[in-house]
Amino acid sequence: MSRYVGPVCRQCRREGEKLYLKGARCYSPKCAVDKKTYPPGQHGQAQTRRSKVQAYGIQLRAKQKARRIYGVLERQFRGYFDEAARQKGVTGEALLQLLERRLDNVVYRMGMAASRKEARQLVGHRHLAVNGRTVNIPSFLVRPGDVVAVREASKEEPPIVEALQQARGRRIPPWLEVDFEEKRGRVQWLPSREEIDTNVQEQLIVGFYSR
Ligand code: SF4
Repeated sequence: MSRYVGPVCRQCRREGEKLYLKGARCYSPKCAVDKKTYPPGQHGQAQTRRSKVQAYGIQLRAKQKARRIYGVLERQFRGYFDEAARQKGVTGEALLQLLERRLDNVVYRMGMAASRKEARQLVGHRHLAVNGRTVNIPSFLVRPGDVVAVREASKEEPPIVEALQQARGRRIPPWLEVDFEEKRGRVQWLPSREEIDTNVQEQLIVGFYSR
């Protein structure tokens, strides 16, 4: 399982906005986007002064931003796009729906992890089960009716307890149902675009791959 191993906050600074990749730190004054309002790298400050951004650049940034939010590498992201393009309906919406169905995303959305990165680790370390069977593949795609639960032996794991405590005050998407006491949740239906609060313009991603 390959994944991005570079500096996490650099990805937010590259996109010029918070992507919430680090859990609690993202809500604190330590957030790098709040502290440094220019892109990373040697010429970062100079870049803020440049105004001409090509259409290709805008599409590329939209694609990179979505990739970074969901923590997916290029080849796998392209795979999701190809799968979305094969489906009926609006390709951009189908792409976001596929990304939302990833088990690491669902674990994060249910509040069992402080970030998608943490969720990916929890899944990889076999702390989660889907319909009673342990699943350690973060890219596993959930279906309506699936029950995602913290395994009995992992219910007192500190990161899970802490994340669930913080999630009680957070909005859980309507397509997911969570039982905080039992530390499990259910996928009620697959999300529509309105139910996905990810701040990306998916039509730009479609434009990028359709060039
Ligand atoms: Fe992004 Fe969170 Fe780092 Fe802020 S603290 S730059 S939101 S990952």
